[in-house]
Amino acid sequence: MIQIAIYGKGGIGKSTISANLSAALGNRGKRVLQVGCDPKHDSTRLLLDGESIPTVLDYIRDTYPEHRKLDDILFRGYADIACVEAGGPEPGVGCAGRGILSTFEILEKLGIEEIPFDIKLYDVLGDVVCGGFAVPIRKEYADAIYIVSSGEYMALYAANNILRGISNFDDNSPRVAGIIHNSRGLEHENEKVRAFADAVGLPVVTSIPRDELFAEAEKEGCTVIQGYPMSVPSFLFKQLADHVEKVSNEDISLFKANPLSNEEMEKIVLGRVHSFKQNKNNLAASQKPL
Ligand code: ATP
Ligand code: MG
Repeated sequence: MIQIAIYGKGGIGKSTISANLSAALGNRGKRVLQVGCDPKHDSTRLLLDGESIPTVLDYIRDTYPEHRKLDDILFRGYADIACVEAGGPEPGVGCAGRGILSTFEILEKLGIEEIPFDIKLYDVLGDVVCGGFAVPIRKEYADAIYIVSSGEYMALYAANNILRGISNFDDNSPRVAGIIHNSRGLEHENEKVRAFADAVGLPVVTSIPRDELFAEAEKEGCTVIQGYPMSVPSFLFKQLADHVEKVSNEDISLFKANPLSNEEMEKIVLGRVHSFKQNKNNLAASQKPL
């Protein structure tokens, strides 16, 4: 069994990628558990005909401990994939990170360990500002971590922050599998992602194009793998599933987190060097009397 965590900036495509990856793995007979670790609780929707399921946090709040059952929070979807949503508090109220920890604890208490899985996949919001969101990074929960990013500066900035979070955990043993490039269709995007990946010493494991099939599949409440199995994105998700299997079989090595400094980030991603000095010079020039 391998546990993988998919991290990345908000809205970057983590849940879409997680659901498609789970679907690709499920189609080859792998027993998959996908846990959405995001208060929005929409991680597993595409595996469940677009339906949302009760969240673990709502459930433990509304149900006495003696009445709690795993079946009330674990739902089977496409390719028999087991789906769980952690849920979380209303925005601005309480700590969403603590909710993730409670979810992990309650799943264990209700006996999730007795269900045999080949792959457990955690879909996690990547703004690692609080320890709670970093729970799935911990060694006991994630054997391998994939980071989703586009070529946008803020997405790469978040990716770098995630690497910082990982490097602060445990002994920073090699656990990063690589970067999943989810394209925004920007100019020079591939080069930017590759430059960042090279600088942090990680492979770009796949590059998924911006494709309207994602919106089509979403309308139908399914993954691209289910709705458009012969499409280019489906082919790429199958390749990503191969990668996960190789990591699981230890045929592919993992990497240590090696984050960049902010200055290095600007230089590598924006091509900006000595920007402060230049700005000052520009300012001085613009203030010269005519
Ligand atoms: P959040 O941080 O809010 O949980 P997320 O990272 O999980 O967001 P998704 O919900 O998976 O992001 O994706 C956001 C939107 O982008 C969805 O509508 C999805 O269909 C779309 N999307 C994701 N990847 C692609 C792509 N490669 N091409 C076109 N649309 C995409
Ligand atoms: Mg999501």
